Amino acid sequence: MIRVSLTLLIFIYLAVFLTVIFSLWIWAEWSRQRRERRAVRHRIRCAMCAFAFEDPSETPLPRCPRCGSLNERDPFGGL
Ligand SMILES: [Zn+2]
Repeated sequence: MIRVSLTLLIFIYLAVFLTVIFSLWIWAEWSRQRRERRAVRHRIRCAMCAFAFEDPSETPLPRCPRCGSLNERDPFGGL
């Protein structure tokens, strides 16, 4: 009787522990991805010369500083 309840206790402890670890991991991964997405939101890779540059403005067609061609803003970061 005691052994069964002890086993159950250990099982519950492990389940709670794993759940906490798993949710912390998911949360850390989610916040890391959100931070990276925010960091690369204004990063554009030129379609003509593959030059990566930052464009903080909200113009729909930012101009490449190296070759001067217009680039479409990639919603996924352009990388
Ligand atoms: Zn370019």
